[in-house]
Amino acid sequence: MTADGDRVPLRERTAEELLALVRAGGASTRQELVNSTRMARSTVNQAVARLIREGRITESDRAPKGPGSGSGRPAVRLVAVVDASAVAGIDFGHSHVQVAVADEQGAFLGHRIARLDVDAHAPAALDLAATMLDGLVRTTGVTLGSVVAGVPGPLDARTGAVTSPTILSSWVGLHPGAELTRRLALPVRVENDAVLGAYGEARHGAGAGRGRADFLYVKASHGIGAGLVVGGRLYTGATGIAGEIGHIGLPGRPESCRCGKRGCLEAVVSVEAVRARVALVDPSRGVADVLLDRRGGPVVERVAHEAGRTLGTVLAQLCDLLNPGALVLGGELATVPGFVDGVRAAVERDAQPAIAATVEVRAAALGDRAELHGALELAAASSPARADGDAPH
Ligand SMILES: [Zn+2]
Repeated sequence: MTADGDRVPLRERTAEELLALVRAGGASTRQELVNSTRMARSTVNQAVARLIREGRITESDRAPKGPGSGSGRPAVRLVAVVDASAVAGIDFGHSHVQVAVADEQGAFLGHRIARLDVDAHAPAALDLAATMLDGLVRTTGVTLGSVVAGVPGPLDARTGAVTSPTILSSWVGLHPGAELTRRLALPVRVENDAVLGAYGEARHGAGAGRGRADFLYVKASHGIGAGLVVGGRLYTGATGIAGEIGHIGLPGRPESCRCGKRGCLEAVVSVEAVRARVALVDPSRGVADVLLDRRGGPVVERVAHEAGRTLGTVLAQLCDLLNPGALVLGGELATVPGFVDGVRAAVERDAQPAIAATVEVRAAALGDRAELHGALELAAASSPARADGDAPH
């Protein structure tokens, strides 16, 4: 303990003084700290290294704003992490980016969404997410302590890299966590989106996920992915890729998949496939509004029921393997009338009777925001401001 100010070690006082300068906006690079304190460069470097180690300052590689910053390579900017209690979630869908900020309990403070072909434009999607989040932080006036992002593809838990060469082609080899950390000057944790959906439902959903020790969350949207909760914990497999069920093959189906194979589950059951099928059966219907308006109607309901049954035949086999208490269906398709009923019908028909009799099949309580809520919940659970240690893994 160092109760008296004059007994605080000099090194610590130096660090506090520099941190105060950065917080007050008096200096934002190491050189500016040297200039305004007249401390030795090595002293400043040591103190900054210590503050970075302690997570009280982060580095951003963005060039300082405004004129007169000189020519040549821009200096690394230092950003103070000040009493940060708010959290942010980022949800990369296949065709949208959405961001939200919440308080340390995970309660929504603000939200933004933009449409973009995320699969094909990874750097643009990462830039857009960072810009949207910066804007949201400015308008809500919060200071972020923790950020979690979800990506709709396989992520190697050992390296943080997107692994599949075919599923998110423009993302392959990218480390989304490192890329976002660099853009936001904040540590960002990245998870598969369906895993976050499962976490959101387990933590926050008022429906089947909440309180269930064993359930399977399935995100059915532009792709199909699953998040698995076993014994009350997220199960992500040996390398973090468990739940990639979208490319399970359906025998005899000719549809070609973006992964290069034919007859994959998500080539047959997806927002695009349902839209195309509705347009085929009822050409008078505008294709674009089929799912967005969520009005349903007999044709939409019939097509969605059929898609649900196709998904259900695969989920029935997974139910036989896992004996889950619930199948929680999220993503855009689960909000279309008829879809969840179709899944339930196939599970009741195809799973072992004793297993089918006890599994509850229902839509995600958080709707198509389960992933975003999961990201916020996970960010809140791992926030330095809430050290109750209940983050999974
Ligand atoms: Zn595939």
